[in-house]
Amino acid sequence: MRRQIVIGNWKLHGDQQFVAELLRELMNGWIGVHQAEVVVCPSFVHMDLAGRTLGHSNIMLGAQDVSHFAEGAYTGDVSASMLHDLGCHYAIVGHSERRRHYGETNELVAKKFQAAQDARLVPILCVGESAKEREQGITLEVIGRQLQAVADYCGAERIARGVIAYEPLWAVGTGKIASPEQAQEVHEFIRRGLGPAGVVTRIVYGGSVTPSNAQSMFAMPDIDGALVGGAALRASDFLEICRAAE
Ligand code: PEP
Repeated sequence: MRRQIVIGNWKLHGDQQFVAELLRELMNGWIGVHQAEVVVCPSFVHMDLAGRTLGHSNIMLGAQDVSHFAEGAYTGDVSASMLHDLGCHYAIVGHSERRRHYGETNELVAKKFQAAQDARLVPILCVGESAKEREQGITLEVIGRQLQAVADYCGAERIARGVIAYEPLWAVGTGKIASPEQAQEVHEFIRRGLGPAGVVTRIVYGGSVTPSNAQSMFAMPDIDGALVGGAALRASDFLEICRAAE
């Protein structure tokens, strides 16, 4: 019932040549009809190139972030409607690196979530606990607070129409992955919290996913795909992860 989705987050990497080559390799490796949906998220400056290169291919375009403003005097921002205009379908909101390095709060993330949906983008809402919070046994409480902030601002039913990415902070970019059981526990908690509407919500895992561990994650009943950082920069690795989701 839920179509698996694998999202590549390219972060602050690459130049035009790198982007064009990576896209070509991905497009060549992902021809035809597939059960899993594949999304790539290049930097803002490479979105136009990526959109034109992908054309009508079956690889979708996503953004790594989005402004919470629709338009106006907000120097440096990129709005959801600008992204939609470029052929973008998804926007990551609340990635842990944006929360950590740019002080993004749950409230700001909620505004971004709404701004994305208002412009017909599908927000990919990142939530996750720190190593300390997991040690303290408050993982579910932290995740619950992050989701509640969006529910309070947008209404609970809107969260169910987005994609949720569970990304434990201690697993993002560290090479240390959560066990499938640890991830499943959180995914099940998130789905239960969404109520009946959550049956169709895609909840993906992110944090050091590689070709060697993807299959065991995808075997869990509430894990509907992955948000991939490092391994998304190598076409062969990323394609292997995508195939594991089928
Ligand atoms: C991410 O950037 O969201 C991520 C999960 O990174 P990595 O796969 O490198 O841990």
